[in-house]
This record gives sequence, structure tokens and C-alpha cells, in this order.
Amino acid sequence: MKCAICNLHETNIPEIVDVAKFWVVRLNPSSSVQGYRIIEPKRHVENWNELSNDEFAEMGDLIKKLEINLKEMYNAERVYVVTISEQVRHLHLHVIPRAEDSALKGLPLINNAIL
Ligand SMILES: [Zn+2]
Repeated sequence: MKCAICNLHETNIPEIVDVAKFWVVRLNPSSSVQGYRIIEPKRHVENWNELSNDEFAEMGDLIKKLEINLKEMYNAERVYVVTISEQVRHLHLHVIPRAEDSALKGLPLINNAIL
């Protein structure tokens, strides 16, 4: 069975907001947190040590760019980057803005946002 993320990348899903050389950035349409993004490598990678230095460098650039955008667009005071990749083994990073006036912060917000 093919992985869910690889399947998604084969379709023209509207959630995709940015496509770089090695990575895709897409919206998380099922979360209540506005601005929630997911960064995923284009190729199927399950372990960090499988990434090339170029792939790591581009991932860093995307995180920097997203943080700037999310602070501007959603008045985010903090931008959380969380990666677990347990249920879906294809590596992916959850990028979750925390607005200045958010009642939830830290793990409670992340838990609420991801579920
Ligand atoms: Zn995959």
C-alpha cells in the first residue's frame, strides 16, 4: 500500500501552497488553527539520516520563510514546528502559528491543533 503523503503529492490538491525543489508546503484543511501548514519532502523518506544536506538546507529555508509569513498573516507571536511521523511514516513537519491572543499555548495548543 502506498503512503498517504505520496498519494497526496500525486494529485492536484488545492491545499498545496508552495512547491520547492525537494519539499512541498500545504495547508492542513482539517485543523481549526488558521495558518497551520505541513512541510513534506517530495520523495518518500522515513528517517532524518536519509535526507541530503541540500534537502536539509531547503527545509530550513522553508521554515524561515513560513515563520515570517505566518507572523505577518496571522499575527503569530510564536510559530511551533513539530515533527512526529508516527501514524504516517513519511517525514513531515507541522508548522503551527500561535496567535498573540490565543488562550492555548504550547502543548495544549499543539494537541488541540493536530487532532
Ligand atoms: Zn510517502
